[in-house]
Amino acid sequence: MLNINDLHFRYGKRSPLVLDGVDLTLHDGEIGVVLGTNGSGKTTLFKNILGILRPESGSIRFDGEDLLKMKRSERARRIAYVPQSIHFGALSVFDTVLTGRVSYFGYKAGREDEEAVWRILRDMRLEHFAARNVEQLSGGERQKIAIARALAQEPRMLVFDEPTGNLDIANEQLILSEARRVAREKGIGILTSLHDFNQALELGDRFFFMKDGKIRHEGGRGIVTEDVIREIFDAEVRIVEIEGKKIVINGGGKT
Ligand code: ADP
Repeated sequence: MLNINDLHFRYGKRSPLVLDGVDLTLHDGEIGVVLGTNGSGKTTLFKNILGILRPESGSIRFDGEDLLKMKRSERARRIAYVPQSIHFGALSVFDTVLTGRVSYFGYKAGREDEEAVWRILRDMRLEHFAARNVEQLSGGERQKIAIARALAQEPRMLVFDEPTGNLDIANEQLILSEARRVAREKGIGILTSLHDFNQALELGDRFFFMKDGKIRHEGGRGIVTEDVIREIFDAEVRIVEIEGKKIVINGGGKT
């Protein structure tokens, strides 16, 4: 379980607070979606969780252990980052995924590292890609390799910054369903940010609406309402239910 308490962060000593008392809890196997306008602090929050940035105050714990005090390799076994795109030069898929094991093997990969990679590739139905050069794959395939590489860290949680940002609809669906499978089958928590409310509703278990460096609303699907979206995004939407599914329509009903 990830537990963030009263987190404060600013980029420079005299800069304004970008995170201004963030509280967030995410359980194992849950998918949490952070929603907020551009510049609301989502990426900054993720970088604090991943240890890329250090907070001014507050705590980030995983199963009660202080992530801020952990070595990089210890943190990597708990939380892995899935970047939007991976640029590793001309590595094969196998070697790219193997680099995810670096916190385990240090200098040279051993047999168990290679076996772990094969297990993940098989599990994600990527074995036939193993010898291919990552650079030659499509955007969706590369994103899937990025997930495989993160899983090679054997983390308890994945942080995904805008996983569908650069993808077409078929690849979007592929990645969303892969994310869901990882959470459901492996009990790995996922914290992500998405711009599309309908993708968010499809994927998320918990929603965190962020504004001005704070989580303003948090909860299950029920908190995704026209009023909350208006408050956070200053935008009018209409929410309808079709076949029991909540659908967000841009533009609202004020004609
Ligand atoms: P989001 O991911 O929600 O779009 P960010 O976390 O990227 O938001 O940005 C939050 C705020 O921090 C913005 O005002 C942004 O301009 C500022 N910011 C982001 N990165 C830096 C940086 N490296 N140096 C200074 N300010 C930054």
